[in-house]
Amino acid sequence: MVPQERVYSVKLAPRESAADGLKRLLLLMGDNTRFFKARNRILLKPNFVAPFSGVTTDLAIIDGLVKKIREAGAIPFIAESSGFEFDTESTFKILGIDAYARKNDIELINLDHEDFQRISWGKSGKYWEVSRRIFTCDGIINLPVLKRHSVTVLSGAVKNLMGFLSRNSRRFLHCRNLEEGLVFLSKSLPSMLHIVDARTVFSRAVFGTSGNLGYLFGGMNPFALDRAGASAMGLNPACIPHLQPAVPFEIKGESLPALSLSKNASKRTKNFFPFFYRAAYCLDLLKVKIIGGNSIIPNLHWTFGLHPVLKTKNECELRRVASLCPVGAVSMEKKKIIKKKCQCVRCLRCCQEAEDIVGLRGFHPPG
Ligand code: SF4
Repeated sequence: MVPQERVYSVKLAPRESAADGLKRLLLLMGDNTRFFKARNRILLKPNFVAPFSGVTTDLAIIDGLVKKIREAGAIPFIAESSGFEFDTESTFKILGIDAYARKNDIELINLDHEDFQRISWGKSGKYWEVSRRIFTCDGIINLPVLKRHSVTVLSGAVKNLMGFLSRNSRRFLHCRNLEEGLVFLSKSLPSMLHIVDARTVFSRAVFGTSGNLGYLFGGMNPFALDRAGASAMGLNPACIPHLQPAVPFEIKGESLPALSLSKNASKRTKNFFPFFYRAAYCLDLLKVKIIGGNSIIPNLHWTFGLHPVLKTKNECELRRVASLCPVGAVSMEKKKIIKKKCQCVRCLRCCQEAEDIVGLRGFHPPG
């Protein structure tokens, strides 16, 4: 069995594929056989936070694990719920996950449509709704992508576990104490294998810029893995609230880059964004409790965050934009982008592929 605080690390050669890097990592980790026993049902928990490839789990990593699990006679399945303001179904479709799952005969589960089990949050009398799937499968492999995060500083193995919570619980967690909640959540869930993709790291969970790091990390302790990830990014883990208390780790494999740890860079964004973020979720909690109906968070993200704006009313150009949109959000009749259809997707495909006729508007918080 893999020792708890050991972080396995491989650094990919410039042209090495994710699949080859993964093979080397699994070899280095050695005894992961308890995850790959015949007839076991193994849940793969990717990071499909939003419909953007790059910031989401690479299908090559998923495919490598699917093959490994099947070789052992076990049964893989994929389960995920996207970020709070994004629609899971559209995310699966745009990332090509549903097509991949169909082609390879893998069960793909949208956790938004699943049953949840209540677990109590310490002695607070409050509870969380956690997907029942994690208690009925035989093993879980968590597959985060390492990123910076506007609120929690770092998003990695610990933060990716939030996808197991119901949307109600995620809203509640954002209103209370996100960092404390993340620590409690990680400690409440069954033990699992984590494989962290740190080949390219991003400045934000979505809509960020990227930089090359070149690592894959593996291990059983999400706190140790995230502390290693933070160090590799030049962030001081001691300054990241949800990585407290400190979990000492040892690296087995290739050593981390010798970056100087920046205390300031590890601090939360020094602006009103984290406060605004929390206030928005509190407002949403009140709205849903008192008036009911849908969450206002996607609307707020669309209104204040990045969103596409048409620069044209020309029919021919509109038709071009409409053909790019995977969810039919461009109305030829009204000659505009239908906010209701776009706000839970915001894939920005139209802005990227037709930048001459679709602009980008909105506040972009620093990562
Ligand atoms: S309108 Fe643009 S950003 Fe919105 S969903 Fe369609 S392609 Fe994506």
